[in-house]
Parts: sequence; C-alpha cells; structure tokens
Amino acid sequence: MFNALVLEQQDGKTLAEVKQLDLVDLPDEEVLVEVSYSSLNYKDGLAVTGTGKIVHSFPMVPGIDLAGTVKESRSDDFKPGDQVIMTGWSVGERYWGGYSQFARLKSEWLVKMPAGMDAQKSMTIGTAGLTAMLCVMALEEGGITPDKGTVVVTGAAGGVGSVAVAILSKLGYTVAAVTGRESTHDYLRSLGATELLSREEMAEKARPLEKQRWAGAIDTVGDAILARVLAETDYRGVVAACGLAGGFKLPTTVMPFILRNVRLQGVDSVMCPVDIRTQAWNRLLTDLPESALGDIGNVVGLSEVPQAAADIIAGKIQGRTLVDPNK
Ligand code: NAP
Repeated sequence: MFNALVLEQQDGKTLAEVKQLDLVDLPDEEVLVEVSYSSLNYKDGLAVTGTGKIVHSFPMVPGIDLAGTVKESRSDDFKPGDQVIMTGWSVGERYWGGYSQFARLKSEWLVKMPAGMDAQKSMTIGTAGLTAMLCVMALEEGGITPDKGTVVVTGAAGGVGSVAVAILSKLGYTVAAVTGRESTHDYLRSLGATELLSREEMAEKARPLEKQRWAGAIDTVGDAILARVLAETDYRGVVAACGLAGGFKLPTTVMPFILRNVRLQGVDSVMCPVDIRTQAWNRLLTDLPESALGDIGNVVGLSEVPQAAADIIAGKIQGRTLVDPNK
C-alpha cells in the first residue's frame, strides 16, 4: 500500500483526501515510477481547490510534475533504476499525477534526468521553471540579447516569474520585476531584479502606444498588465506570454504590432516537444544559479497540499513549493 492525494467530487465540490492505494489501483501505463518529489503549480492549485475546470475525470490523483526512480518498465527506453522527470502532458488533469508515492506513466512523457540534476532540484524548477526557461529561449530566438535593454517580468514573485528573474539576471539581462506584494521586494532583488514596479501601476489602462521601456518581457498574468507591457515594448521587442494569473483577456490594439514591430510569442510547456524540453532542462542546469534554487523552494507533504493549493490561488505563495509524498 502507498499514499496518494485523491480528488473526488461531491455535490459539484472538489474534495481532496490522502488515501492508501495499491499498485493495482494505478492506471495501466508502461512505466512505474517511485515518486521522490512533485511540485505545486498554479494549475495544481486550480485542480486541488476545484477553482478551475482542470480535472477531466474523478477520482484523480493531481500533480502535473514529478521526479523519481523507475521501478518497472515495459518500454525499451527506460529500465529500473533510471532517474526521470515528467512535466505536463495533461498528467494531473487527464491522467493520474505526482501527488502520490507511485505513478504509472507513458514512456514518451518521461525525460531522463540530466547529469548534475536530481529529483529535488528538478522539482524546485518543475513546470514553472521549465516554462520560465522556454520564455527566456523565446526572447533569445527573437534576438533579445542583454545589450538591447531591460526585460520586464510580471507576476515576478510567483513560480514562473521568480525563476525567470533568476535566469535572466544570471544571463546578464537587466531585469524589472512587476509584483503585487511589496513584501517580496527584497526577495526579488536577491534573485537579481534591479527595478521593482507595482502591479497596480502596471494594471492601469494603457494607451495603444506608451513610452518605450522594455526590450523584452515575460508575462505570466495576462489581461490589462499584458496590454500595458505590449504598449510599452520597444521597437522590434519580444513579449513571451505564458500565463493568466490576472485573467485570460487581452484588451489591446494592433498598434504595438504594426507600428513597432513588436512580437507576441506564446509559450506552452505542456505539449512542448521532447527535443525542446530536453534542451530547456539542460539550459536550466547551466543558466539557473544554484543559489537562487535554495531561495526559491519550500517543501510540503501530501496532507499539506490542500492548504498550499488554496494559498497559491490566493496569490500568497512566494517562489516554488515542492511536494514530498514521502514526508
Ligand atoms: P504562481 O506561483 O501563483 O505565480 C503567479 C503570480 O502572478 C503570483 O505570485 C502573483 O505575483 C501574480 N498574480 C496573482 N494574481 C494576480 C492578479 N490578479 N493580477 C496580477 N498578478 C497576479 O503561479 P505559476 O505557477 O508561476 O504560474 C503563473 C501563470 O503561468 C499561471 O497563470 C499559470 O497557469 C501559467 N503557466 C503556464 C504554463 C504554460 O505552459 N503556458 C506553464 C506554467 C504556468 P506577485 O505576487 O509577484 O504579484
């Protein structure tokens, strides 16, 4: 028997409870993984609290990320003892996920742990960190080098935002951080942000074009803030948009695109092809400072996940939260 957090629905409400399961209860997938760590992402918060329609069927073991050791494998690509990382692929939404001591997974969802990475480190990074890296790579692909000017990160004290600030700063970019919490200013400065902006001022309705301030941007919040970021982006600047923590709307005009040649690049980590994923995980090894990782993560056990999930939805979490199913 082993422990897992199980979501069920009762009278339209989502209930989360730690239950004892048997290996035969797990879905019949190719690779059995003993989970060392999972992590808490905004999407996990939506799933566990039932705030968003994230879970496709119940009962569900949530947890969109996991890292651990292969115990059994029907795939030639993996053998017992292999260390693996899994993020995305609708695991924790459609398929049972990482808030469990064991998980059965499709082999094509797994990435071999890069040398120098371990389960704890990879889950401190998790989907949020992978997405942050993909956003930085999108800026690079658009030609945004550190000499071009300041890069602004929104939702900066959150999971994606904090990792993005740390990576950009390590790579030599000047980083401006937008946050709704003044209490996170010292933390954001410690990650490398040199300019701090309030969420309130950035959420003010923007004119179609504002004064040019940003060579590039990583936006995790959407809505009015993304609209302002676009209006303030430099000629030929790039905005990598990956999130909707502030809302899914985009109240903007075509002006930044047609008059300033601004590029709005969407970023998705869930269905990201394996070759780009592997490239991003390897980049995280070199471009995310070890010191930032220590500051970014804290750890909760399965029974503490419902509270942590409520906190991430309420915007109270700073940095990344790891889930240790063996705690
Ligand atoms: P998180 O840790 O909760 O961070 C989100 C941050 O956004 C918060 O810490 C807060 O930062 C800010 N925020 C919260 N509510 C806000 C509001 N109403 N208006 C403006 N800002 C607000 O979540 P995360 O895991 O980093 O994810 C961030 C976003 O990216 C989510 O929307 C998530 O769904 C999305 N995401 C997308 C992908 C993808 O593949 N596209 C992957 C991962 C995550 P401050 O306290 O600093 O203001």
